Amino acid sequence: MAGQKKTLLKVIILGDTEVGKTSLMQQFINGKFSQQYKATIGADFLPKDMIIDDKNITMQIWDTAGQERFQSLGVAFYRGSDCCVLVYDVTNLKSFENLTSWRDEFLIQANIKDPDNFPFIIIGNKIDLEEGKRLISTKKAQALSNSLGNLPYFETSAKESVNIDQAFEVVARCALKQE
Ligand code: GDP
Ligand code: MG
Repeated sequence: MAGQKKTLLKVIILGDTEVGKTSLMQQFINGKFSQQYKATIGADFLPKDMIIDDKNITMQIWDTAGQERFQSLGVAFYRGSDCCVLVYDVTNLKSFENLTSWRDEFLIQANIKDPDNFPFIIIGNKIDLEEGKRLISTKKAQALSNSLGNLPYFETSAKESVNIDQAFEVVARCALKQE
Protein backbone atom coordinates (compact mmCIF):
# COMPACT_ATOMS: atom_id res chain seq x y z
CA MET A 1 0.00 0.00 0.00
CA ALA A 2 2.81 2.33 -0.92
CA GLY A 3 1.89 5.96 -0.83
CA GLN A 4 -1.34 5.37 0.98
CA LYS A 5 -1.94 7.90 3.67
CA LYS A 6 -2.04 6.56 7.18
CA THR A 7 -4.84 7.56 9.44
CA LEU A 8 -3.78 8.64 12.89
CA LEU A 9 -6.20 7.89 15.69
CA LYS A 10 -5.88 9.02 19.27
CA VAL A 11 -7.24 6.72 21.94
CA ILE A 12 -7.04 7.36 25.64
CA ILE A 13 -7.37 4.88 28.47
CA LEU A 14 -8.97 6.07 31.70
CA GLY A 15 -9.96 4.47 34.96
CA ASP A 16 -8.87 4.18 38.57
CA THR A 17 -5.27 3.41 39.37
CA GLU A 18 -4.35 -0.31 39.48
CA VAL A 19 -7.24 -1.52 37.29
CA GLY A 20 -4.77 -2.64 34.62
CA LYS A 21 -4.72 0.20 32.07
CA THR A 22 -0.98 -0.02 31.45
CA SER A 23 -1.10 -3.81 31.41
CA LEU A 24 -3.85 -3.82 28.77
CA MET A 25 -1.86 -1.47 26.59
CA GLN A 26 1.38 -3.44 27.05
CA GLN A 27 -0.34 -6.72 26.28
CA PHE A 28 -1.94 -5.29 23.16
CA ILE A 29 1.18 -3.56 21.84
CA ASN A 30 4.01 -5.78 23.04
CA GLY A 31 2.26 -9.05 23.85
CA LYS A 32 3.71 -8.97 27.34
CA PHE A 33 2.47 -8.97 30.89
CA SER A 34 4.42 -7.94 33.96
CA GLN A 35 3.24 -7.80 37.55
CA GLN A 36 4.75 -4.38 37.93
CA TYR A 37 4.73 -1.38 35.63
CA LYS A 38 6.42 1.59 37.06
CA ALA A 39 4.61 4.88 36.89
CA THR A 40 7.37 6.21 34.64
CA ILE A 41 6.77 4.87 31.16
CA GLY A 42 8.38 8.02 29.75
CA ALA A 43 6.33 8.50 26.61
CA ASP A 44 2.90 10.09 26.59
CA PHE A 45 1.61 7.43 24.25
CA LEU A 46 2.54 4.28 22.35
CA PRO A 47 1.75 3.74 18.68
CA LYS A 48 0.22 0.62 17.17
CA ASP A 49 -0.15 0.07 13.43
CA MET A 50 -3.28 -1.75 12.37
CA ILE A 51 -5.17 -2.56 9.20
CA ILE A 52 -8.92 -2.16 9.46
CA ASP A 53 -10.97 -2.91 6.35
CA ASP A 54 -7.90 -2.42 4.11
CA LYS A 55 -7.21 0.90 5.74
CA ASN A 56 -3.80 1.58 7.30
CA ILE A 57 -4.13 3.22 10.64
CA THR A 58 -1.82 4.14 13.47
CA MET A 59 -3.50 4.09 16.80
CA GLN A 60 -1.84 6.29 19.40
CA ILE A 61 -2.74 4.89 22.78
CA TRP A 62 -2.42 7.39 25.59
CA ASP A 63 -1.91 5.97 29.03
CA THR A 64 -1.66 7.76 32.34
CA ALA A 65 1.59 7.53 34.27
CA GLY A 66 -0.01 7.35 37.69
CA GLN A 67 -1.38 10.90 37.65
CA GLU A 68 -4.89 9.48 37.69
CA ARG A 69 -4.39 9.15 41.43
CA PHE A 70 -4.45 12.91 41.70
CA GLN A 71 -6.85 13.59 38.83
CA SER A 72 -4.23 15.89 37.38
CA LEU A 73 -4.11 14.87 33.75
CA GLY A 74 -3.50 17.94 31.64
CA VAL A 75 -5.75 19.17 28.87
CA ALA A 76 -3.20 17.94 26.27
CA PHE A 77 -3.85 14.42 27.42
CA TYR A 78 -7.53 14.62 26.50
CA ARG A 79 -7.40 16.91 23.49
CA GLY A 80 -8.29 15.47 20.09
CA SER A 81 -9.25 12.00 21.31
CA ASP A 82 -11.09 9.81 18.81
CA CYS A 83 -12.12 7.19 21.34
CA CYS A 84 -12.00 6.78 25.12
CA VAL A 85 -11.58 3.41 26.83
CA LEU A 86 -13.00 3.26 30.36
CA VAL A 87 -11.46 0.48 32.43
CA TYR A 88 -12.47 -1.03 35.75
CA ASP A 89 -11.31 -4.10 37.66
CA VAL A 90 -14.05 -6.76 38.03
CA THR A 91 -12.88 -7.40 41.60
CA ASN A 92 -12.94 -3.73 42.62
CA LEU A 93 -16.39 -2.24 43.16
CA LYS A 94 -15.14 1.32 43.60
CA SER A 95 -13.38 1.23 40.23
CA PHE A 96 -16.71 0.24 38.64
CA GLU A 97 -18.64 2.95 40.46
CA ASN A 98 -16.09 5.52 39.33
CA LEU A 99 -16.57 4.83 35.61
CA THR A 100 -19.24 7.47 35.17
CA SER A 101 -17.02 10.08 36.87
CA TRP A 102 -14.20 9.23 34.49
CA ARG A 103 -16.63 9.58 31.59
CA ASP A 104 -17.86 12.95 32.85
CA GLU A 105 -14.33 14.16 33.47
CA PHE A 106 -13.36 13.16 29.95
CA LEU A 107 -16.35 14.95 28.39
CA ILE A 108 -15.48 18.16 30.22
CA GLN A 109 -11.70 18.09 29.71
CA ALA A 110 -11.85 17.00 26.07
CA ASN A 111 -14.61 19.56 25.51
CA ILE A 112 -16.88 17.12 23.72
CA LYS A 113 -19.80 18.93 22.09
CA ASP A 114 -21.98 15.90 21.42
CA PRO A 115 -21.56 13.52 24.39
CA ASP A 116 -24.23 11.08 23.23
CA ASN A 117 -22.34 10.31 20.06
CA PHE A 118 -18.79 10.13 21.38
CA PRO A 119 -17.37 6.58 21.27
CA PHE A 120 -16.60 5.18 24.69
CA ILE A 121 -15.71 1.53 25.26
CA ILE A 122 -16.02 -0.16 28.64
CA ILE A 123 -13.55 -2.83 29.73
CA GLY A 124 -13.90 -5.00 32.84
CA ASN A 125 -10.36 -6.33 33.40
CA LYS A 126 -8.81 -9.10 35.57
CA ILE A 127 -11.38 -11.81 34.75
CA ASP A 128 -8.64 -14.39 35.39
CA LEU A 129 -8.95 -13.79 39.13
CA GLU A 130 -10.87 -16.52 40.88
CA GLU A 131 -14.63 -16.52 40.65
CA GLY A 132 -15.18 -15.74 44.33
CA LYS A 133 -13.22 -12.50 44.07
CA ARG A 134 -15.39 -11.08 41.38
CA LEU A 135 -17.67 -8.29 42.58
CA ILE A 136 -19.20 -6.99 39.35
CA SER A 137 -21.22 -9.41 37.25
CA THR A 138 -21.42 -9.30 33.47
CA LYS A 139 -25.09 -8.41 33.82
CA LYS A 140 -24.38 -5.42 36.04
CA ALA A 141 -21.70 -4.11 33.71
CA GLN A 142 -23.90 -4.62 30.69
CA ALA A 143 -26.65 -2.62 32.38
CA LEU A 144 -24.25 0.28 32.89
CA SER A 145 -23.02 0.07 29.29
CA ASN A 146 -26.61 0.15 28.09
CA SER A 147 -27.55 3.07 30.30
CA LEU A 148 -24.63 5.11 28.96
CA GLY A 149 -25.81 4.60 25.38
CA ASN A 150 -25.24 0.98 24.40
CA LEU A 151 -21.49 1.24 24.73
CA PRO A 152 -19.42 -1.74 23.61
CA TYR A 153 -18.42 -3.79 26.65
CA PHE A 154 -15.57 -6.29 26.95
CA GLU A 155 -14.32 -8.50 29.73
CA THR A 156 -10.58 -8.99 29.54
CA SER A 157 -7.53 -10.39 31.22
CA ALA A 158 -4.35 -8.49 30.46
CA LYS A 159 -2.55 -11.19 32.41
CA GLU A 160 -3.74 -14.13 30.34
CA SER A 161 -4.32 -12.15 27.17
CA VAL A 162 -8.05 -12.75 26.96
CA ASN A 163 -10.13 -10.58 24.63
CA ILE A 164 -7.45 -7.91 24.21
CA ASP A 165 -7.22 -7.90 20.42
CA GLN A 166 -11.00 -8.13 20.11
CA ALA A 167 -11.49 -5.13 22.39
CA PHE A 168 -8.89 -2.98 20.67
CA GLU A 169 -10.22 -3.82 17.23
CA VAL A 170 -13.58 -2.39 18.27
CA VAL A 171 -11.73 0.58 19.75
CA ALA A 172 -10.05 1.15 16.38
CA ARG A 173 -13.34 0.85 14.49
CA CYS A 174 -15.09 3.27 16.82
CA ALA A 175 -12.20 5.74 16.61
CA LEU A 176 -12.24 5.51 12.82
CA LYS A 177 -15.92 6.40 12.72
CA GLN A 178 -15.29 9.36 14.97
CA GLU A 179 -12.26 10.64 13.07
P1 GDP B 1 -2.95 0.80 36.04
O1 GDP B 1 -2.60 1.55 37.27
O2 GDP B 1 -4.42 0.93 35.73
O3 GDP B 1 -2.11 1.16 34.87
O4 GDP B 1 -2.73 -0.74 36.35
P2 GDP B 1 -1.46 -1.67 36.02
O5 GDP B 1 -1.47 -2.07 34.58
O6 GDP B 1 -0.24 -1.02 36.54
O7 GDP B 1 -1.83 -2.96 36.86
C1 GDP B 1 -2.02 -2.90 38.27
C2 GDP B 1 -1.75 -4.27 38.89
O8 GDP B 1 -2.73 -5.20 38.44
C3 GDP B 1 -0.41 -4.84 38.48
O9 GDP B 1 0.12 -5.55 39.57
C4 GDP B 1 -0.75 -5.77 37.34
O10 GDP B 1 0.18 -6.81 37.21
C5 GDP B 1 -2.11 -6.29 37.77
N1 GDP B 1 -2.96 -6.67 36.62
C6 GDP B 1 -3.22 -5.94 35.51
N2 GDP B 1 -4.04 -6.58 34.67
C7 GDP B 1 -4.33 -7.77 35.27
C8 GDP B 1 -5.14 -8.90 34.90
O11 GDP B 1 -5.77 -8.97 33.84
N3 GDP B 1 -5.19 -9.92 35.81
C9 GDP B 1 -4.51 -9.90 37.00
N4 GDP B 1 -4.62 -10.96 37.79
N5 GDP B 1 -3.75 -8.87 37.37
C10 GDP B 1 -3.65 -7.81 36.52
MG1 MG C 1 -0.66 2.62 34.64
